[in-house]
Amino acid sequence: MKHDVDVGVVGAGPAGMTAALLLARTGNSVALLEKWPQPYPQPRAIGLDHEVRRVFHLAGVDHRIERGIETTDGHPAEYATPDGEVLASMPSPGLGSSGFPEMVIFHQPDAEALLDQLTIAHPSITVLRNVIVSDLEQSDDGVVLHYQHGDGNGNLQADRAGGALAAKYVVGADGANSVVASLMGAEFTTLDFESEWLVVDILPTSPWEWRPFFGQVLDPSRPTTVAPAGPGRRRFEFMLLPGETRESMSSPEAAWSLMAKWDVTPDNAVLERSVAYGLLGRWANDWRNGRVFIVGDAAHLTPPFLGQGLNSAVRDAANLAGHLNLVLDGRAPETVLDRYTEERLPHVRTQIETAVQLGHVICITDPEAARQRDDGLRQLRDSGAAVPLEARPPLLSGVLAADDPLAGTLSFQGRVELDGRTGLFDEVLASGEYTLIGLDGDPASALGAEAREVWTRLRGESAHVGDQASVRDVDGTYRQWLGGAAVGVVLVRPDFYVFGSGQSVADADRLVLELGEKLGVLSNVTS
Ligand SMILES: Cc1cc2nc3c(=O)[nH]c(=O)nc-3n(C[C@H](O)[C@H](O)[C@H](O)COP(=O)(O)OP(=O)(O)OC[C@H]3O[C@@H](n4cnc5c(N)ncnc54)[C@H](O)[C@@H]3O)c2cc1C
Repeated sequence: MKHDVDVGVVGAGPAGMTAALLLARTGNSVALLEKWPQPYPQPRAIGLDHEVRRVFHLAGVDHRIERGIETTDGHPAEYATPDGEVLASMPSPGLGSSGFPEMVIFHQPDAEALLDQLTIAHPSITVLRNVIVSDLEQSDDGVVLHYQHGDGNGNLQADRAGGALAAKYVVGADGANSVVASLMGAEFTTLDFESEWLVVDILPTSPWEWRPFFGQVLDPSRPTTVAPAGPGRRRFEFMLLPGETRESMSSPEAAWSLMAKWDVTPDNAVLERSVAYGLLGRWANDWRNGRVFIVGDAAHLTPPFLGQGLNSAVRDAANLAGHLNLVLDGRAPETVLDRYTEERLPHVRTQIETAVQLGHVICITDPEAARQRDDGLRQLRDSGAAVPLEARPPLLSGVLAADDPLAGTLSFQGRVELDGRTGLFDEVLASGEYTLIGLDGDPASALGAEAREVWTRLRGESAHVGDQASVRDVDGTYRQWLGGAAVGVVLVRPDFYVFGSGQSVADADRLVLELGEKLGVLSNVTS
C-alpha cells in the first residue's frame, strides 16, 4: 500500500490532538481528521492534573495554558449536607510529582484552542476539518480511511464526493460515539451505573463567597456538584430526578430555576451553557484491532466524580504515541503495540470503578439511605481516617521491570540546573524518550556493549542528577524521591512512568537489557 501519512488520527479533541503532536514530534507524518470546522467551544472537563500538564508540555503546550487555569486557592474538596455540615474534606492538592500543581481548574476550550494552534502550525501534521470519517479498510500493511465532507454543522454534505487517505496506522480519538470503535468491532463492558445530570456553566458578574467552594452537596432531593470552572467561571451539576427528561431540563429556564436556591439569577450571572447528559462507566475490552487503535472517550467513559475523563484520554495518547513512535521508525517490533491495551485498560478500569463507587454514594435520593450514608461519612470523618479513593493507580503490567517496587509508578519531575540554565527537567534536558536518571553517576557510563547498543537504538537519554552532579537537583526532588525509595538509578519511559529501578548506576546495564528484552529489541540487537 502507498501511504499518504504514517498515522491517521480521527477526532481533534484533547486525545486526538495530543496523540497527533506526540507522534509528529519524532518526525512521523500525521493527518488529523475532524468533523467540526472549529474546535468545540463549550466547557466540558474542568480538572487538569499534573501528569497531563507534563504530557501537554511534551506535546509543545507552553506557559500560555496558564491563562485558562485557576487553582482551588487552598479550598479543600468537600462533601457537605444541604445545611452545610461538611461530612468529608479532601485537602487542596499541592505540587504534584510531575512538577505541576496536583490538580488545577481549567476551561477545556482554552486548552483545546492551544492544541489546535499547535497542530495547525506543525509541519508534520495535516489538519483536515469539516470531514467526517465514515469507513475504514484494513490490510496487512495499512489502513484506508474514508471520509465525507461536512456541512459545517457536523452533518454530512450529501452532494459532495468524499475522499480517502491511506495510513500505516489509525488512531480513533472520535469520542463517546466513536465510529472507529464500531468499525473495528470493539466490544464494551458497562458497569451497573446510570445517572443523568444537568451541567450548567455560568459567568458570575459580581463577587461571591461560594460554599462549598468545590465539592458535592449530598442532598437526596437533588444531588448537586458545585465547582470553580476556570478563571471567572462557575459550574453547577444537578442530578436529574425521575420524570425529568434531558430535553426539558436543558432549557435556560430549568437552569435558572435550579440555581435560584443559590441566589444565582440573570441579574448577577451570565448563563454560558446548560446541557443534560448521561453518565456511564464503560470500557472497550480491547483498544487495538490490527493497525487500528482507540483512545480517550472512544475507548472508555467515566462518571466525572474523579475528574478523570479528559485526563485519562490524554494518558492514553501519551502511552500509545510512546509505543507507536518506537515501531514507526523501526526501533521496536510491532509486538510492542500489544502492550497499549495491556497497560492502559487496567489503569482506566480502576479509575472508572472508583468513580462509579463514588457515584453510588453521591447519587442517593432515598432519604433513609441518605441518612445512613451521612452517618457512615460522619463516622469516617470523626475517626480521622482518610477517604479511601484509588484515583491514581500504577501501571500493573506491560513494558515494566519485574519484581521492582517503583516499576509502573509515575516518575517525579523536579527543577534542575545545567550549564547555568534552571528549569523543570523536561525544559532543561529531556528528549521525551526512555531516560536513565542516576544519583551516584551517569548511568550511561555503566552500560556494557550489548546494553549500549540497545540504548543507542532506542535513542535513550541519561543524566547524573544530584547536589554535586552535572545536572544539579535544585530542590532536592530526585534525592528525596529516589533516596526515599533506597534507589540510585531509575529508568523512566516516554510516558513518564517508571520502567524500573536499581540500587546504584551499576544496575543501569541490567535495566536496559531487561527493557530491550521487554520491547523485543534485544533479539534484533543480538541476532
Ligand atoms: C457536559 C460534559 C461535562 C464533562 N465534564 C468533565 C469533567 O468535569 N472532567 C473530565 O475529566 N471530563 C469531563 N467530561 C469529559 C471530557 O470532556 C472528555 O472525557 C474529553 O473531552 C475526551 O476527550 P476525547 O479527545 O477522547 O474526545 P472528545 O473531546 O469527545 O473529542 C472527539 C472528537 O472527535 C470528533 N469526531 C467524532 N466523530 C468523528 C468522525 N466520524 N469523523 C471525524 N471526527 C469525529 C468530534 O467532533 C470531537 O471533536 C465532560 C464531558 C461532557 C460532555
